[in-house]
Amino acid sequence: MPWTQVFAGALDTLPSWLWLAVSLVPDVVMLAGIAWLWRSLMRTQREARRQLAETTDTLARRTETLRWAAELADVGVWFWTFSSGVVEWSDRARAQFALPSGQSPSLDYFYSVIYQDDRERVRAAIDAAVAGRQDYRTVFRVVHPDGSHHWIAAMGRALYAADGTPVSMGGVTIDVTGLRAIEDELRALKVVTKEQATELDLARRFRLFAENASDVVMETDNAGRIRWITPSVRLRIGLEPGDVIGERFVQFVHPDERDRVRAMEDQVARGTAAESRLRLRIAADGYQWFSVSLRPLFDDRQTVIGRVGGWRDIHREVQAQEVLAAERLRLRATLEGMLDPLVIIEPVRDDDRHVVDFTYLDVNPAACAWLRVDRDRLVGARLCETVPEVDSSGLLRAISELSDTGRPLVLDDFPFMLRGVGLRRLDVRGIHGDEWISLAWRDVTERHDATEKLAASEEQFRLLAENSTDVILRLDANDIVLWVSPSVRPVLGWTQAEAIGQDGKTFFATTETREQYERDKARVLAGQGAASRAQVRAATGDVHWMEVRTFPYRTSEGAVSGMVASMHIIDAEVRMEQDLEYRARVDEMTGLLNRRELVERLAGIVAHGEQAVGLLWCDIDGFKAINDLHGHAAGDAVLEALGERIRSCLRSSDDIGGRIGGDELVVVLHGIEGLADAVACAESLRCRAAEPIPAGDDMIEATISIGVTLVAPEEGIDALLARADDAMYQAKQHGKNRVVAVPPPAAVTAAS
Ligand code: GH3
Ligand code: MG
Repeated sequence: MPWTQVFAGALDTLPSWLWLAVSLVPDVVMLAGIAWLWRSLMRTQREARRQLAETTDTLARRTETLRWAAELADVGVWFWTFSSGVVEWSDRARAQFALPSGQSPSLDYFYSVIYQDDRERVRAAIDAAVAGRQDYRTVFRVVHPDGSHHWIAAMGRALYAADGTPVSMGGVTIDVTGLRAIEDELRALKVVTKEQATELDLARRFRLFAENASDVVMETDNAGRIRWITPSVRLRIGLEPGDVIGERFVQFVHPDERDRVRAMEDQVARGTAAESRLRLRIAADGYQWFSVSLRPLFDDRQTVIGRVGGWRDIHREVQAQEVLAAERLRLRATLEGMLDPLVIIEPVRDDDRHVVDFTYLDVNPAACAWLRVDRDRLVGARLCETVPEVDSSGLLRAISELSDTGRPLVLDDFPFMLRGVGLRRLDVRGIHGDEWISLAWRDVTERHDATEKLAASEEQFRLLAENSTDVILRLDANDIVLWVSPSVRPVLGWTQAEAIGQDGKTFFATTETREQYERDKARVLAGQGAASRAQVRAATGDVHWMEVRTFPYRTSEGAVSGMVASMHIIDAEVRMEQDLEYRARVDEMTGLLNRRELVERLAGIVAHGEQAVGLLWCDIDGFKAINDLHGHAAGDAVLEALGERIRSCLRSSDDIGGRIGGDELVVVLHGIEGLADAVACAESLRCRAAEPIPAGDDMIEATISIGVTLVAPEEGIDALLARADDAMYQAKQHGKNRVVAVPPPAAVTAAS
């Protein structure tokens, strides 16, 4: 083994320098000493040989292990003895240097197989390592007999004698051709470091992205002429990349913004990026907004050699922003124009995230006026600092709760003691935004006071209503009874519960009353009062006449929302009136209409030009004599009985019986078919009248003479009566108790 030979050789040289030492000592003592020394040395040598054998064994084992390790690791091992110039090679090293097996070529061979361009560098590295007592490391190419180049990485270290003379050098070699190829490949890709690899990867991705993205990416030269552009240009401005390449970018920009492009280009020429919003010409028509960025493109010497630009279509964004801006403007105008104070505030929290105060973000003029603080002093200020009452009034707690829960804040008539002003009542509304709160309020102190006053007066009104003998009702516009005074019970027999919730009209007994109510309601809902009479059903089923006064019921804002009615029974009054009225038109003794009423009715019939109306004028025969014979009372009884008989012969409600004079009675009959028909009716009446009339103990036979005629069209009432009277006169003339008819004239004029 080369290693043991090296060490054994070193030992073999030991006796020669010992002999040299011996020859230097001449005397016997010295010889004895030498003999002792020799023995001792021999002992030492034997011991040394034993130890050497052991060491050699150990070394051989270790060497073998190392060899295998080297073989497995693909590492070559070499050892070079300077004195002999011989280089020992391990099998792997031999293979790396294409050495024929069995030979131990010299150092010259070693240098000869190194590629000539690398040779001097290796020699210099080895010399430097030996001279400088440092490790030798280098990478070089070895040329194999087949001409192929193999990259070898070598490492070595020199060994030195005690005097510092270098004696040998050993080391390892590794074939790194494979690694080198990979490295070359990387170099070809211009990627050496990991960072650079990432960069390249990004560049590839970027290019892929650029070509597929909807945004446009372009590269221009320093004059702004487009060198390359992504196909997406077609989508964005409707031009093919071929149409655009070679053109100057600025010419696609709206003339108003070309100066801006030039400014951007100047900036890029100075090496910094620039970005701007530009309108670009669309092939179809018009311009659209793009966000355009320009960046410088550098070469290795950091010279700007062109530009990379990106265009992003922001047309919709710009439009949306314009709408948003308009909306903001509108909102601002609304805010400014609001009569109610409004503030936008954001919570201030302590370390535990508890809301401790709020900061004003914005305030409207109404809020400034109400708080009596300028806007500049409010925005950014703390709520509690500017309006300490917020805390003491409990409003701060309510707003904090809104901030924590997000539930809208609704406070009505909230009492708020405002410094220097006094107690105010506020309607407060708050809503929660992202991290802000919009808080609006309305000073309703006046309304509150008015409401309180109203409540007080309403209380009085309620007391009045509840203790009134009148029935007081409140109805809504749909006639539903909302409230009725307790007096409804004693007056009409209904309980409050029975009446409330009912349709008020159901209590009216007649169609006339219902119609009257509708008329009244129209007036009242129009804001006026109304008074009328109504026939109202009581719980017993009786119908009462009631006087009803109705007024509008107004809300606190003054709008009419319903009606208030006050009603009381007027049965006696109505009865009295009806009686009076009856008396005014009816003859008390006969129960027939009196003269005035009769003439009026008859005038109506004539005026309406009614047809087929017969007129019977009756006069009691010798009535004076009856009076004289039986007494005035008996005469009255006769009149009474004849009135009764006349009434019984009336056939329709339109027919009339009237007393036109002392013993003169008139009958008006409708539906008369000619004069003969009227005469027949008169005959019948005459016979009926002639029947004896009981008067006290007597039975009086009274007869009547009847003059008959028909109502003629367009005839005057006087002429008509005169004709009837004339006919009656003729009946008297012809012997009384008879009927005489006088036909109407063939034609009469209205004036006659
Ligand atoms: P003649 O047949 O011509 O009609 O004779 P007469 O007696 O009926 O005469 P005339 O019609 O002229 O007289 C009407 C009398 O009627 C006069 C008056 O005394 C009487 N008379 C008028 N009003 C009343 C009355 O209310 N009661 C009574 N008992 N008699 C009355
Ligand atoms: Mg008479």
